[in-house]
Amino acid sequence: MRFGYREVCLDHDTGARHPETADRIRAIRRALAKRHGVDYREGFLADREAVSAVHDAEYVDAVETFCAEGGGTWDADTVAVEETWDAALASAGLACWAAAEALDGADGRETPFSIGRPPGHHAEFDEAMGFCFFNNAAVAAQYALDRADIDRVAVFDWDVHHGNGTQDIFYDREDVFYASIHERGLFPGTGDVLETGKGTGTKTTLNVPLPGGSGDVEYLAAVDELLAPALERFVPDLFIISAGFDAHRHDPISRMRVSTEGFGVLTTRVREIGDRHDAPLAFVLEGGYGLDSLADSVGMVHEVFDGREPVEDDGEITSKANRVINDVRHAHGL
Ligand SMILES: [Zn+2]
Repeated sequence: MRFGYREVCLDHDTGARHPETADRIRAIRRALAKRHGVDYREGFLADREAVSAVHDAEYVDAVETFCAEGGGTWDADTVAVEETWDAALASAGLACWAAAEALDGADGRETPFSIGRPPGHHAEFDEAMGFCFFNNAAVAAQYALDRADIDRVAVFDWDVHHGNGTQDIFYDREDVFYASIHERGLFPGTGDVLETGKGTGTKTTLNVPLPGGSGDVEYLAAVDELLAPALERFVPDLFIISAGFDAHRHDPISRMRVSTEGFGVLTTRVREIGDRHDAPLAFVLEGGYGLDSLADSVGMVHEVFDGREPVEDDGEITSKANRVINDVRHAHGL
């Protein structure tokens, strides 16, 4: 794969006891150093126009001022230092780079994956939260719609948390489809089955709040039985993956049980969906807080594009998860 990376993303210093640290990116890069066919690109910094296309201009100013004054605690989880401003613009820019690269024809072994930080999917139109300042995937989706000859973008968010920010930004939009599989009851508490979009955006938001303890089988069922058929209807021109790896069974902050191999199988599924619609894929890093599980999982995504065929778990779906999937199917008329 082609990984988008900029050193400035390491300068966003969240302090000693914060789970979202620069060591996450260092661990990913160490794991990738041992693999074949890894390529790095610097992307570009997002400019104010790209960020303001999905965020309130006054909010963007407030983030800039907050960082310029040395940063601090925006909320209990979300902290900044002076360098956070540049890191946030780089992280958003890397996501835009990934989208542009995908639309430029980078696929197969050249599929782009931006590994910026801070992450983005909790950042709403006018609020930072959950470690996120700018919504990188949303900035990238809008950037692609504004600059490329495309009409529809799908964002699939497999981070264990609901991407309330991405949902918020595109909730009434018919040209951006947002799908999330997340652990029910975890931060930020949004992402109910019945949150399906509004106005012309009705049914362009798809939430699958799986019960804690769900793993490969449940995630694959959600993709095969909900996401894939929903995108048959939506037909995206670009497919962005908000790729967090905190649903991994060894991640310290969730109860989900996705395996490294499971992330590989998920990758084959999204590749198939993208191929079916001729929608190029762009991966954008979100969360993932077990350094080894995060690094192994990103390595696995890379290896799938390098030819590895991950092994699928052929277990039975839990009845609790099956009920959620049926509820979503019903809510969306799938
Ligand atoms: Zn997360």
